[in-house]
Amino acid sequence: MDKLIITVAPTGNVPTKEINPHLPITPDEIAEDIYCCYQAGAAVAHLHARNQAGEPTADPLVFAEVAKRIREKCDIIIQFSTGARAGKTAEERGACLELAPEMASLTTGSSNFSNMVNYNPPELIKELAQKMKQKGIKPEVEIFDLSALEYAKYLVKKEMLKTPLHINLVLGVPGSAGGSVRNLFFLIESLPTDCTWSVTSIGRSHRQLSALGVVLGGHVRTGLEDLNELEAGKPVSNLQLVQRVAALAEAYGREIATPAEARVILDLTTETDNL
Ligand code: ZN
Repeated sequence: MDKLIITVAPTGNVPTKEINPHLPITPDEIAEDIYCCYQAGAAVAHLHARNQAGEPTADPLVFAEVAKRIREKCDIIIQFSTGARAGKTAEERGACLELAPEMASLTTGSSNFSNMVNYNPPELIKELAQKMKQKGIKPEVEIFDLSALEYAKYLVKKEMLKTPLHINLVLGVPGSAGGSVRNLFFLIESLPTDCTWSVTSIGRSHRQLSALGVVLGGHVRTGLEDLNELEAGKPVSNLQLVQRVAALAEAYGREIATPAEARVILDLTTETDNL
């Protein structure tokens, strides 16, 4: 079994400081938080950007600022989000790809969030995939249900995505595949043979499904993008969430990958990191 890659998703688009005072929002706060998580074992940082009002933005200048401050502190793998909440067009959502991060998220199908469409039509997916391919950016293929996984396989067949894929199984989003053990097993069984995968479980199912990710040889994402508390009424920090996954890894005898080791496991080409 490969060493475990822990991804931290510190900010997302939805949480606010009112809900959780630990939430990092500014580039400085995010960089400081990521550095603590890196020291606790995180090898990948999945990043969203916020404007000065704290709202989601696709502005590449903000992404650049966040990445620069992280790079001053550590060599964690930087992954930008191209998700549906921060912009409408492929141009807007892919603006951060001009910065050539090592990785970027690529959702390969539409579904629903609790209050809006997770809008990813084929043309937009192809445009983002092509841009990532041109720039040597490794996509983290985000799967919110089976159809998105099937579409990723189709894109491989059409040579728009390169193998080995890295696939993130996102479960527990209201409006998409629910966070159940059965759903996780079903998606794992549906994966292509030549891929790496991770599990991202939103809300209540987070503890159970991230433990399965550790045990079954997948990788695990955690962070305030995915859940706000482990115990009712007690907001957690990103550091606590990463420490919890690191403790799970230790309990189940799985070593944790450094960023350098994760680059090998994920088949990244380091020369593409221009940040
Ligand atoms: Zn995200």
